[in-house]
This record gives sequence, structure tokens and C-alpha cells, in this order.
Amino acid sequence: MTGATRVLLDESRTPRTWYNIVADLPVPPPPPLRPDTSQPVGPDDLAPLFPMELIAQEVSTERFIAIPESVRDVYRLWRPTPLIRAHRLERALGTPARIYYKYEGGSPAGSHKPNTAVPQAYYNARQGIRRLTTETGAGQWGTALAFACAQYGIECEIWMVRASYDQKPHRRSLMRVYGATVHASPSPLTVSGRSVLAERPDSPGSLGIAISEAVEVAGSGPEVRYALGSVLNHVLLHQTVIGEEAIEQLAAFGEVPDVIVGCTGGGSNFAGLAFPFLREKLAGRMDPVVRAVEPESCPSLTRGVYAYDFGDAAGFTPLLKMHTLGHAFVPDPIHAGGLRYHGMSPLLSHMYELGMFEAVAKGQRECFEAGLRFARTEGIVPAPEPAHALAETIAEALRCKESGEPKVLLTALCGHGHFDLSAYDRHLAGELEDYALPQDRIDAALAGLPVLESPGSSGQS
Ligand SMILES: *Cc1c(COP(=O)(O)O)cnc(C)c1O
Repeated sequence: MTGATRVLLDESRTPRTWYNIVADLPVPPPPPLRPDTSQPVGPDDLAPLFPMELIAQEVSTERFIAIPESVRDVYRLWRPTPLIRAHRLERALGTPARIYYKYEGGSPAGSHKPNTAVPQAYYNARQGIRRLTTETGAGQWGTALAFACAQYGIECEIWMVRASYDQKPHRRSLMRVYGATVHASPSPLTVSGRSVLAERPDSPGSLGIAISEAVEVAGSGPEVRYALGSVLNHVLLHQTVIGEEAIEQLAAFGEVPDVIVGCTGGGSNFAGLAFPFLREKLAGRMDPVVRAVEPESCPSLTRGVYAYDFGDAAGFTPLLKMHTLGHAFVPDPIHAGGLRYHGMSPLLSHMYELGMFEAVAKGQRECFEAGLRFARTEGIVPAPEPAHALAETIAEALRCKESGEPKVLLTALCGHGHFDLSAYDRHLAGELEDYALPQDRIDAALAGLPVLESPGSSGQS
């Protein structure tokens, strides 16, 4: 049925398990370490921040983890999501490649993030937690968590980076519609926020400061916990529903992928699409090339180092072994806010070291061009983050045109761009810049990498 455009699955096909790729890796990933002792972090260290079931998933080596029925029930509001063949984009490019995209923008929050926000709210509610705290930059994660908390009747308190709070009033409104409390960060409500404000009352904030505020409040009481929208193993695990559905849908098209492309901020939508396909590849059932796309202004995989570093700017979190530009690195203000993170998921970083996937970096102008091309052919306005994946998918399709190879390309269209139209306006007005990233800025941030207390076999020297 190669002429078909969409494969929709019946809601009974919503996956019943998440796939944990750790079970199939030839070498286990290095553990997170306590900054004070350089010893591996234990469950007790994480218990003030996360509920026990998520901590268990974080360290699990089980291959498949059952999705609770209550979570599947909420997933069914928008899952299974469609897999669409981009016939119109293919024709416009004149490529023999067949391009497929898995569209996650039809979720209530407009991105893939509810795939993890819902189980996180569920496991917290089951443990009797009454309130979740989190940070949000561009607002995608805050929106998803606010929606998920409303499903389970728990409170949601969000620290939103001041610059976005002022520039993206509609994201802020959406979180409040779902019932969340939203503070501009830095806020006068926490010790960390007050100390920043004392020095700089007009601070625009940063993701690092917002994380510090949310973590500080989560640590303050037995019924409050913290939630993170990317980077950690349990978050990537929850996103594998994307790839599991895509395997079934691509098979219904009668196709096997040659190239799989996704954008990477902390790595969750990319992992969610790619991990189930990598399982099939490890088992010898298919052999796709898997490729991550990151912004040139924040290139943790292509120009960062693989080392233990803090997950946040303030140095509150455990040390994570990951591809990093240094926790002090402040990326230029590109519009793909979800890709402006100094590090990369430790699990993906480990797999990158094992050679399990490739990475490329793109400037934002090429990505917005790809976003326009996609909108004008396929009709969906992509968020600036997946526009990075589309830019590489288009580049690959054009290489297929050169070589005459009819490859099957698969990408994740992980969110729509309806809240990013002012960025598209700026691109259309010719006002967007590409930021070349000089090596000395990376070197300066890397000079601040933490020094391990007792460099053991897994340590950095
Ligand atoms: C948050 C976000 C990203 C970046 O996060 P990942 O964990 O790398 O997926 C990318 N795209 C969209 C639409 C997002 O909301």
C-alpha cells in the first residue's frame, strides 16, 4: 500500500509496555555520582525528589515495563498518533526517497512531552504526593505537566524562566488554564531566587536558576516532589510509545526504514522514536542509520566532551556522565528553546560512545527554511525544534535525489509551532541570525567541569 498517506491505529493498539533499551546494551551506562563523595547515587539520595516507582524505572534493567491501565487511558485521548507519508514534500523536492513522519503535535499540550508527564503525575499521585514542582523554559514541559497534574488532581507549581514568561504569555496562560501556578524565575519565593534578585533585580533568569528554585521547593516537604521533562532514563523510557507505534505503522505501509532522524535537546523525543528501532537493529531484523540533529549554537554531541557534569547550572543535581558543553555554558538565544540544554541524556551519550547513532548540527536559518517548506507542502507548522530534524531529513532526501536511491526516511515531528509564530515572523522578515560558536566559549565553560573526589575506574582524571 505504498500509495497511502496515513496509517492510523485503533486506540486498542496503544502500547501496553515501555521499552527499556538498557536491557539490550552490550555495556551498561555509567551510574550518576554524588558530588560530595563521587560514589554512585543510591535510591535514598533520590527519594526526596522522585517517587519510588520512577526511581525503580530509572535504574531498571527489565526489557519491558508495563504501562499502568490508568496511564493508557489518558494516552488514549490522543494515542496512537498518526504516521504520515509526506507525499507533497517528496514531490516538491523531486526526491525518490519516501519520507514518513510520526506526528506528536496532536497531544493536548501540542508536543510529545505528555507521554512522560502523565505517568510521572500518576506515580506521584499513587504515592500520595499532593504537589509537583518543575521548571520550564519555552513552556512545552510546563504545559504538559500542568495537563497531567489536572488528570490526577494534584497541584502543579512551575518556575518559568523570566525571559520566556514575558515573551510567551500564551504558554503561561495555557498552564494556568490547566490549573497550574506559574511563577517568573527568579522569584522572591525561594532562597535561590532571592539571592539572584538581590544581585540583579532585573535578571532574565535561566533554566539553571529555575531548576534550582523548583528543586529547593520539592525538597521542602514530604508531599512535594520534582518532575523533569527530558534527560533521565525514565523519561526516555516513557517516550518509547512513539517508536513502538511507528514500527507497527511502518510495517502497515510495507516499509522498513533506512534512515531515522530526530532532534535532540535532552534527547527524549529522539530516543522515544529510535530505541524500539534500535532493538530491532540489534536483533538483526533491520539496519537503519540513526541520526540526531542538534543546533549549531548548542552542540553537546558534536562538540561537547564526554565527562561527569552537573545537570543544572547551579550544581544541585547529581553528577551525570554525559556529552556536555559544561554546566556554565549559556547558549545563544535561538528560537528552538527546547534544544538549549548544555548536556545530553547520559543514556544517549553512552550509546553515542558505543557508535549506535550519528549526530549532526544545524544553524537555525536552515531549520526555519525547512519549517516553511514543510508547512507549505504538508500543512503542519512544525515547532522550531523538530524543524531541525526536518532540515536534515530534507538534506538526506536531496542526497537521495543526487544518487537516485529510493531510501525510506523516518522522522519525529514532535510538536507543532503554533506558539512560535513570532519566531516564524522574524524569519520571514529576514531577522534571524545563525550563531557561529567560537571554540573559546566552549573551552571556557568546560574549564568549570567538576573535579571528582576519588577518580575510580569510572571516574574522570
Ligand atoms: C522539549 C522539546 C524538545 C526537546 O526535548 P527532547 O527531550 O530532546 O525531546 C524538542 N521538541 C519539542 C517540541 C519539545 O517540546
